[in-house]
Amino acid sequence: MSYPKSSAAGEPEAIQPSPSFSQIEEGVLDFWQRDSTFQATIDQRADEGAPEWVFYDGPPFANGLPHYGHLLTGYAKDLFPRYQTMRGKRVERRFGWDTHGLPAELEAMKQLGITEKSEIEAMGIGVFNAACRASVLKYTREWRDYVTRQGRWVDFEHDYKTLNPSFMESVLWAFKTLYDKNLAYEGFRVLPYCWNDQTPLSNHELRMDDDVYQMRTDQTVTVTFPLTGDKAASLGLSGVKALAWTTTPWTLPTNEALAVGADFDYVVVPAGPTATVDGPFLLARDLVGSHAKGLGYESADEAVAAITATVAGSELADVTYERLFDYFADTDAFGTEKAWRILVTDFVTTDDGTGIVHEAPAYGEVDQYACEAAGIPVIVSVDDGARFLPVVTDFAGLQVFEANSPVIRTLKERGRLFSQASYAHSYPHCWRCRKPLIYKAVSSWFVRVTDVKDDMLRLNQEINWVP
Ligand SMILES: [Zn+2]
Repeated sequence: MSYPKSSAAGEPEAIQPSPSFSQIEEGVLDFWQRDSTFQATIDQRADEGAPEWVFYDGPPFANGLPHYGHLLTGYAKDLFPRYQTMRGKRVERRFGWDTHGLPAELEAMKQLGITEKSEIEAMGIGVFNAACRASVLKYTREWRDYVTRQGRWVDFEHDYKTLNPSFMESVLWAFKTLYDKNLAYEGFRVLPYCWNDQTPLSNHELRMDDDVYQMRTDQTVTVTFPLTGDKAASLGLSGVKALAWTTTPWTLPTNEALAVGADFDYVVVPAGPTATVDGPFLLARDLVGSHAKGLGYESADEAVAAITATVAGSELADVTYERLFDYFADTDAFGTEKAWRILVTDFVTTDDGTGIVHEAPAYGEVDQYACEAAGIPVIVSVDDGARFLPVVTDFAGLQVFEANSPVIRTLKERGRLFSQASYAHSYPHCWRCRKPLIYKAVSSWFVRVTDVKDDMLRLNQEINWVP
């Protein structure tokens, strides 16, 4: 078959003064179709025993229509295989469909008119899976039309789907291989977490759009932690109340440590004439002035003048204190024998707060690292919907944002509240449902990449990466 010339209108010789480009394109596409031109470029190379050039295409979801981003990258995905074909390589190109992950599940939930994970469990995983399966391939025909119309050569007849058992088995095989090589392990990782969608979010999802970070007003509290034990006694700090500030009162039931900065000076300040809480108090020297009123003094100068002792942050290591709550006091059951003491860290600042940081390793990334290094366990106190577990008897069943006020009230009743204030801050929200996120330790499987890092870096040098 000979290639059609300039006009699809049947007048190959005449030059059209105002050609219809889309008509010309359609004529070319029609010719490619009748001629099987694409298939010929592959078959021909097979005859010649040509070397293979492999192209791995990151597959799209078909539960929505293609957008600009798909089509633009589609041109690059077409250009390279064509170029390599012209260079004499055999380039097979199979279209693929990504059918896994949260987008598929959320779309199916929308279609089924359900919003909760418990509703999925009630209808049965099999029924839900069938709905997902129908939903994920909804627009395959439209995709095929778009991709073909843009002139891309790719094989839709032999497409692959990530839901094919052969594909899933290959993923499981790869994971098992990692596991057998002791390169896979289960652990906790503190991640942004949506309690409404009941899923962690990637850090990338915090940059999804401009509405993720919105101003939000929370109640912050500064809480007292009376120092106890031999180390405190040797420093002359017995009964002195360390002050720690937090913007998330609901994490206080899982306080497991306090963090100080090695290079800061911490000072003892007795309660001043107008104090409403008994002292003496311990906080960073740099922040005494900003807490003058709460400490019971008229001015910052008066508060600083009242300082009775100074101790370096580094000296406070392992000083123990009276915990706020006893839910996790059973050290055998919870592995908390090393909890409730002061850790010397490098992440504390004196920008705000007291220079003493409350540590709840399940709800802060740096908290988790610091506590892990000190042998203090991650204790998750809430369920997947961020409601307190029965073990936290005073607040069981309360959602964390509802629990802030009751937690503050309880601390006040027990004489552990130093001060309370409203705090407006830029706070991350879920880009899907717009609910405020929390940070929460999530059990996940990890690959011990550091063990193979040198090999990876070496092999990377042999790969020609094209952005
Ligand atoms: Zn959400």
